[in-house]
Amino acid sequence: MPETAFINGRFLPLAEASVSIEDRGFQFGDGVYEVIRTYRGRPFKPEAHIARLNRSAEAIGLRQPYSLERWVGCISEGLRLAAFSEAKIYVQITRGAAPRDHAYAQDLEPTIVMTIRELHPVAVAVQAAGVDAMTIEDLRWGRCDIKSVNLLANVLARQQAKQAGVFEAILVRNGEVAEGAVSNVIVVEGGTLITAPEGPRILSGVTREVVLSLARQEGMDIQERYPSEKQLYGASEVFLTGTTVEVLPVVRIDGQPIGGGQPGPVTRSLAKRFVAQTG
Ligand code: PLP
Repeated sequence: MPETAFINGRFLPLAEASVSIEDRGFQFGDGVYEVIRTYRGRPFKPEAHIARLNRSAEAIGLRQPYSLERWVGCISEGLRLAAFSEAKIYVQITRGAAPRDHAYAQDLEPTIVMTIRELHPVAVAVQAAGVDAMTIEDLRWGRCDIKSVNLLANVLARQQAKQAGVFEAILVRNGEVAEGAVSNVIVVEGGTLITAPEGPRILSGVTREVVLSLARQEGMDIQERYPSEKQLYGASEVFLTGTTVEVLPVVRIDGQPIGGGQPGPVTRSLAKRFVAQTG
């Protein structure tokens, strides 16, 4: 079975998988999700992703019925069935199917979905050269720490970036840099890393945490506060972190070169250290 799906305990080929049109995920975006990738065939930090799934589910009053052990078992069975050398694991829990009504009954059976697809990482040449980004006003709601399937503002921002021919949309509110549409943003000023603090305005990335702890081990100064737009443009380096982007240098923002317009030494060193600890 190549592309594999899992629905409420059952594995099947992804092309045959479907859920009810009355599912509240479909009707309201009433659900939460995670994306996990493999390195050398093994899921990376599944415990951190499932812990965040639990936090997201709890924050919206959604029952997350599976234990970490059960998720780990399902993921490893899915990986075995799909048999890709590297895979992207998508996990989603929605509040379940019910006649459409904004308010919900407490006894709904959640819909648990997982898909396993082949991983297409950012190309090595793109990682090496760095990417362009653009700033976009952050129009999202006040609980960006919840990894909700309700991603409309992120969808529109990323589409705008795609149409502009750049890789990522950097979301800015009142002159403060929050994060990317699909990544966290880290600004380098000399030997200091500046990045938005954990809290309701960003999704606290698993990769962000790993990279900040690597930087701490290097003795770097880390400031968790919102970089200003001015600091973003004037930074010596800027990079993105995320499950799919890993540590990705940003070399131009809104057409303006960052630092020397090339990936800088801090980003390159953290990217190398990040890759080294994935095995
Ligand atoms: N911020 C947003 C809005 C995201 O969607 C993501 C990942 O999908 C991240 C940050 C990075 O999180 P992680 O490193 O856990 O993949």
